[in-house]
Amino acid sequence: MQVGKRGLARIVQIPSFMKRDYDLVVVGGGSAGYGAASTGIEQGLKVAVIEGAETLGGLCVQRGCMPSKTIIETANRMRDLREGSQFGIEVPEGARVDMDELQKRRRRMVSKFQREREEQLKTEEFDLIRGRAQFVDSHHLKITDGESEKRFSFRTAVIATGSSPRIPDIEGLSEVPFWLSRDALVAEELPEHLLVVGGGVIACELGCCFEGLGSRVTIINRSDTLLEKLPPEASQEIEQACERKGIELKLDAETKSVKQEDGEFIVTIERGKQTEELRGSHLLIATGRTPQIDSLNLEAAQIDSDEKGILTNENCQTSQSHIFAVGDCADGIDIVHHAVIEGEQAARNARAIIDHKAQEPADKTPTVFAIFSDPEIIHIGPPQSELADRDDLEERTLDLSNFGKAIIRGLDEGLLKVTFEKESGKLIAATGVGRGVIDFSHSMVFAIRQEMTLEEMLKVPHYHPTLAESWTYLEK
Ligand SMILES: Cc1cc2nc3c(=O)[nH]c(=O)nc-3n(C[C@H](O)[C@H](O)[C@H](O)COP(=O)(O)OP(=O)(O)OC[C@H]3O[C@@H](n4cnc5c(N)ncnc54)[C@H](O)[C@@H]3O)c2cc1C
Repeated sequence: MQVGKRGLARIVQIPSFMKRDYDLVVVGGGSAGYGAASTGIEQGLKVAVIEGAETLGGLCVQRGCMPSKTIIETANRMRDLREGSQFGIEVPEGARVDMDELQKRRRRMVSKFQREREEQLKTEEFDLIRGRAQFVDSHHLKITDGESEKRFSFRTAVIATGSSPRIPDIEGLSEVPFWLSRDALVAEELPEHLLVVGGGVIACELGCCFEGLGSRVTIINRSDTLLEKLPPEASQEIEQACERKGIELKLDAETKSVKQEDGEFIVTIERGKQTEELRGSHLLIATGRTPQIDSLNLEAAQIDSDEKGILTNENCQTSQSHIFAVGDCADGIDIVHHAVIEGEQAARNARAIIDHKAQEPADKTPTVFAIFSDPEIIHIGPPQSELADRDDLEERTLDLSNFGKAIIRGLDEGLLKVTFEKESGKLIAATGVGRGVIDFSHSMVFAIRQEMTLEEMLKVPHYHPTLAESWTYLEK
């Protein structure tokens, strides 16, 4: 048994199977859980999905990717309108976002996506059981729904219970009506001045989104840079872009206390030895997420976990070899396609366990990490911390704003960077910053996954003029 990326302490092998209610029980019906359950059915397993929430769909559909990208779409269009005059458009004075209409559209979109997921969950050939699951031991689960309680036995299980927002320990925070990302997404009014605590993906996406919609925005971050896990060029680009558009950045700043006076939020921050008081109409706390595993009674099944989530190996197995953990509750990287890939692989591995066959790893390479800020950011490949450790790599960077289509589109900021092995030329990573960069960079995902060299990638024909072709100017 191989040891996983976060040092799985022990794997308990279950040698034989007794008769059980289900071949596979999936706890959680979000993206990871649905991926596991539908693949389990394809694998010919008898499957149950247990979902504890009142509304079906999971985070991505209801309070994550889809609603956030819906309101970001409006913010981007608002920005286009503001910049319209440089494209020969007479923009009427006073164009503004109608929050009622924006929210109606978000609700329409979310209920469409949610209906689709609900339909999938209800029509697939697995049993959908509503209630909160808790382990009784390593082969039994207890499901509680109000007063009723059921117990099931299983041969294999997948835990896919997701994550919830991490609330920092800030003096006074529990006494004020602060927003989490889910509240920001359903805002009925446009904040006059939004204070954002945090400097990661959600802080940057929602900070830029509300700036685009028309709010004044201040971002307060403990670290001295935004998005600290990305290559430094990307962080610098986004910081400069924020400053250009009037988003105030308070970096290297510890949030000490929060209070509300006459409806106004007052946030006290400390930077070095300086104390500063910031005032705003709304306060968004976006300081990361934490795995949702506390109520599962993992100890009863002897499943190991730490503060980042359930410990797994690359096959998504927990310390019990027949129980898998996938998605946000396990791997510490909150990306929906990781959740789906892990869920699907866990179900294939569940089948393999039953058939006494070998396990296979969840193939997520290369990691693609994207931030829908303005400008957008994409990073493909290993994280900066791993790249920085290697001295066999070379980088090539170009200014995106120099190229034909970028000039036509009026893009005056952005960069593209590739990292490749000095000797072989093999592509290892790529980073892009610029409007639209997430959509036009998937050819690089393909190139890196196919282990192409920089030379080979540069020879792939690209249509002119497109933003995608900018990647092929890297030789110059
Ligand atoms: C604002 C925001 C924007 C995001 N944008 C993006 C994006 O653009 N792209 C991207 O890739 N990712 C994005 N993400 C992250 C992405 O949404 C998550 O990585 C993904 O949805 C996680 O899926 P999951 O299946 O692991 O968890 P979830 O979808 O949260 O599913 C977990 C399910 O388990 C259920 N559950 C929990 N405990 C129990 C229990 N004890 N018993 C029964 N059921 C239980 C829950 O009710 C829930 O339905 C975003 C996240 C946020 C917050």
